[in-house]
Amino acid sequence: MAVTKTGLYLQSSVSALRGVGPALVQRLQRMDLWRVQDILFHLPSRYQDRRHIVPLAAVQPGQECAVLGEIISVEHQRGRREQWLVALSDGGGRLRIRLFHMAAAQRGQWQAGRRLWCFGELRSGFHGLEMVHPEWQMADLPQFQAPRHLTPFYPSCDGITQAQWRRWVAQALTLLDALPDYLEHRLPPQWPSLRAGLRLLHESADEIPSPQHPAWQRLALEELLAHHLAVRQTRQSGIPQSAPALHGGTSLWERFRARLPFAPTGAQERVIAEIKADLARHLPMRRLLQGDVGSGKTLVAAAAALTALESGYQVALMAPTEILAEQLYMRFRQWLEPLDRDVGYLVGSRSPRARRETLEALASGRLGLVTGTQALFQEGVTFARLGLVIIDEQHRFGVEQRRQLLEKGGMPHLLVMTATPIPRTLAMTVHADLEVSVIDALPPGRTPVETLVMPDSRRPELIGRMQHVLEEGRQIYWVCPLIEESEILELQAAEASFTDLRAALPGVAIGLVHGRMRAAEKAEAMDAFQSGAVRILVATTVIEVGVDVPNASLMVIEHAERLGLAQLHQLRGRVGRGMQQSSCILLYHPPLSAKARTRLRVMRETHDGFVIARKDLELRGPGEYLGTRQTGILQMRVADLLRDESLLDKIPALAERLLREDPDAARAVVQRWLGNRLDYGQVG
Ligand code: ADP
Ligand code: MG
Repeated sequence: MAVTKTGLYLQSSVSALRGVGPALVQRLQRMDLWRVQDILFHLPSRYQDRRHIVPLAAVQPGQECAVLGEIISVEHQRGRREQWLVALSDGGGRLRIRLFHMAAAQRGQWQAGRRLWCFGELRSGFHGLEMVHPEWQMADLPQFQAPRHLTPFYPSCDGITQAQWRRWVAQALTLLDALPDYLEHRLPPQWPSLRAGLRLLHESADEIPSPQHPAWQRLALEELLAHHLAVRQTRQSGIPQSAPALHGGTSLWERFRARLPFAPTGAQERVIAEIKADLARHLPMRRLLQGDVGSGKTLVAAAAALTALESGYQVALMAPTEILAEQLYMRFRQWLEPLDRDVGYLVGSRSPRARRETLEALASGRLGLVTGTQALFQEGVTFARLGLVIIDEQHRFGVEQRRQLLEKGGMPHLLVMTATPIPRTLAMTVHADLEVSVIDALPPGRTPVETLVMPDSRRPELIGRMQHVLEEGRQIYWVCPLIEESEILELQAAEASFTDLRAALPGVAIGLVHGRMRAAEKAEAMDAFQSGAVRILVATTVIEVGVDVPNASLMVIEHAERLGLAQLHQLRGRVGRGMQQSSCILLYHPPLSAKARTRLRVMRETHDGFVIARKDLELRGPGEYLGTRQTGILQMRVADLLRDESLLDKIPALAERLLREDPDAARAVVQRWLGNRLDYGQVG
């Protein structure tokens, strides 16, 4: 059992966990994990079976498995790239293990003659089969224990390993008995208790618990209940519900439209009208604008912004990442400067001087529109007359930002834009006061992106195709997905492709952008691609959402089999934005699992985000692939509004009962699930 720091409580900050320093606290908070208790509700996205040891004579390339053997030799190479090469044998076969880094304290353990257990993916290397950075334990130690249950994998972010997650979860689980179960006597007896459910999902699953498993359902039910209760609470809370009525005018919009190279579509016009009607009222708008990737949500945001500006109010336009914020900034500058309106830009990485100038202009009211990241709502940012907040592709907007936002003067209107399809009825059930607008048609003239699926071995054939695209004056994205747990491998993959492409296409300007770059470097790389100076952009999935470079007409995605449908759809949406025929090539490494095969087929056959979301849901077990992350305002930890539709009809009665019998428990449920998060009532 993990040793806990003294005084570890469920409500302690995550910094109370052993091994969590200030940098990790920040990372965890970015994942919306603030308290020790939140770690308990951070559930595995998939599991691996490491219980069976596979004889080395029987292992196959591409297989992920556990092996056990004797270390034959350990070779430490110090060349250009330091590495350790370990030969392992179990009598029947041999395997090489390759490590690129090794903690100093561990070096002494790697000795010939010792017995080693390890788990990892087998690759065919130069010298036969190898495992790169497997998870390992010395099997001749008395404390060695082969896993007895499935091994959980947690949704993670750059810089947090699975081993760290497991240690933190183990610490949090020591407090499980202190976790109150508010629904214990209020659910039918066949439902597991909260504690039993959590324990099973984290540490004792013997077969992969599907989302229909009672343990999942128990948690999903409570989360949906929490959202429902939160809406009821805020309705009764007496928070002032009055925003400035923004009537706008028509002249700014007319001037704007006259300069557009295209006419807004009927679908855009319709949602613009819905939004304008909302803005003209004193009731603060809370509207979710949903539109598939590439449907033109930014234009709708512009219409809303112009209405607010023309009414004499300020607009804050927030994006989840600096890359996106910068894109919005450039786009809005291009749109608004000809109308003699300035656009500000506030992100963490701006120089103190630029920041100060923007802040002054906002506080004095000189600046009407500001784009940026969360930095928009931080300390020291004051608005003279904030009338409208627009959030693009944002999935998290915590209580803290909201409180700060409210302090910035009155209750602004709120527009949240997302590509995630959320059925209107479901949105209404859980968030009775959230209005939904849908852009249900793409701009005219789009030809569907031609999608090809091919094994990675055919990569050399792509060069000719790429040359052709470049000769036509078009640009190319080359995407290398994040490799779970290993930033090093991820970077290596992106860098390797970058180097290969440079060698194969001499004289072509190729850029590289990845999550480990500093914000300013990322921005520089993106700008160079946007302006056309860079013709091919090699990127990790940092470009997933929102990036808009219409001249790009080819996207190649490596390891497409590792990505979920939602992510593939988002990525593919980066091409096919102009008039020209665009293509997306999905490269995969065989062997493909049945589900991965189906996903790739769905991508080839379908372009409709709604169909893809439904398929995604059908296929999504606790996850065979990375990034089950949802986007959109309705982000949940456990529940899924599409999948758990059947739970919804239980919610109102359960809420009534809890409120009647134990109002404190009702409040505690909200606090548990939403303590740090969305609280729609308060944002407006
Ligand atoms: P998303 O909804 O994914 O945010 P964007 O707003 O980035 O989509 O728009 C995608 C592309 O479509 C942009 O290049 C934009 O200029 C273009 N676009 C938007 N509206 C129209 C329209 N009515 N007609 C033609 N092109 C449009
Ligand atoms: Mg967008």
